[in-house]
Parts: sequence; C-alpha cells; structure tokens
Amino acid sequence: MDKIIIAIDGPAGAGKSEIAKRVARGLKYEYIDTGAMYRAIAWKLLKSKINIEDDEELQQLIDNTEISWQSQENVFRVFVDGGEVTDEIRTQSITKKTNEISMIQKVREYLLILQRKAGVEKGIIMEGRDIGTAVFPQAEKKFYLDATLEERAKRRYRDLKKQDQTVKMEKIKEAIRFRDEKDKNRSLNPLKAARDAILIDTTNLSLEEVVQCILDKLKK
Ligand code: C5P
Repeated sequence: MDKIIIAIDGPAGAGKSEIAKRVARGLKYEYIDTGAMYRAIAWKLLKSKINIEDDEELQQLIDNTEISWQSQENVFRVFVDGGEVTDEIRTQSITKKTNEISMIQKVREYLLILQRKAGVEKGIIMEGRDIGTAVFPQAEKKFYLDATLEERAKRRYRDLKKQDQTVKMEKIKEAIRFRDEKDKNRSLNPLKAARDAILIDTTNLSLEEVVQCILDKLKK
C-alpha cells in the first residue's frame, strides 16, 4: 500500500495519543503528537518570561527556538533547543499555558511549517486539533475522535493518578471543559471535524476497539 497521511483530531481526553501510537505501530508509520509541540513552546515561553503580548519579543523568541522530536515505538520525545522536555511539558500549568499560547498566530504559523515538513514523505499519523482542517486538509484519511466529557475526564483522572499527580475529578472535568471551549472557539484553526473526517465516538469503546475500527476503515 502507498504511504499516506493519516490525520487524527479531537478534544482533550478522547484517546487520540494512545490510539494514534497503536495504529502507527501496526502500520509502521511515524507517530507525531502536535500537542507536544505546542506544549514545548509554552514551556519555553514560561521559562523565558517574555511578554507574549509584545509582538517583537515573541517573534524574537520564536526565531531563536528550535523544536525537534524523536518518535519511537511508544514515546514521542520532544526537545527545545536540543534539551529534552518530554516529561516536563505534561504538568497542569503547562497544559493551561499551552491552551493560551495556541491562540497566537505567530506560534501556529511556526508550528504549521514544522508539521507540514514532517509530512513530506508521508507515512505519518499526526494527531492534534487542526490536522485534518488546516495542517493537512489533503490528508488521505482523517478521523475525528470524541467521547462524552464525563468519560474523557475519567480517562484523564486515571492518567494523572498514574503519574502521581494530585488531582480532583471535578477540577479535571472543569479544566477539560474550559480547554475544549477555548480550542473550539478560537478564531485561528479551531478544533472541529473536517468535512471528510470519519467520526468515532469512543465513549463506550476500548482502545483496542477504536484501533481496530481505524485499521478497518484504512483497509477500505
Ligand atoms: O493534545 P494536547 O492536549 O497535548 O494539546 C495541548 C493543547 O495544545 C490543546 O489544548 C490546544 O490548545 C493546543 N493544540 C492546538 N493544535 C494542535 C494540537 C494542540 O491548538 N494541533
């Protein structure tokens, strides 16, 4: 089969990362997590303490930032200026900051270029919020994964617990709801399903069932 580009979009906690990784493994494709790239920029912005409202300062920071990654079997490792930030970008404060900075045009333009470059040779599965609509509107296959807020909050709760982070279910639910609302309503490349995306409601499906469903659709 010719190598293609597979786009997976959806709100927080819909299972995109784990599912995309498994599909990538099955197909021997490269898995690319664009959320991690936005998180990496947020990490650098937080460290640098620049005023993000100041266009010039922001442009300078972007010009002097190098985001890179290594995609291995089960891990998507991210680097800022050569230093690894894979684990550090998963904190709740980075998550919040990422959501804010993802609305900035300069940030989106910068990452869009990197993301498109990654697709030049195809054979990738890229997940995020705007992959099927903005990064690769010409992607051969697009999926939009969703699940109820209740279920997504439960999944996030379990993940954070595993990482030993202290969390409260109600807080997680509120944070996800808030983040989705911002992602869906921003003017630049908001979160939405592409017209030609296959919609999968993962609420009552196991990871394996969703992976199988995607693999079946890819065969068609
Ligand atoms: O996927 P993840 O939860 O790591 O994404 C973190 C945040 O990055 C999202 O809430 C969203 O604001 C932003 N993002 C984006 N576009 C993408 C991927 C992520 O705006 N393609």
